[in-house]
Amino acid sequence: MSASNPPTEPEPEPRGRTCDFCGDLVLAVRRVALDHEYDRLQKAHRELYACSACFETKERQRLGLNRR
Ligand SMILES: [Zn+2]
Repeated sequence: MSASNPPTEPEPEPRGRTCDFCGDLVLAVRRVALDHEYDRLQKAHRELYACSACFETKERQRLGLNRR
């Protein structure tokens, strides 16, 4: 008998993730790749997870639109 590939069990999705910026546990975080902004020579890709609020803040900072 040949055992064909067993169906790979999908890993149970974690219920939410923790925002790396504010520490909130949110259902949907967005991955923020901090590349070529910070030390790109050291870490090419440093991925963080941000909730939508922090993501927008991050985006605004990235685009330099943060106004006072
Ligand atoms: Zn957050």
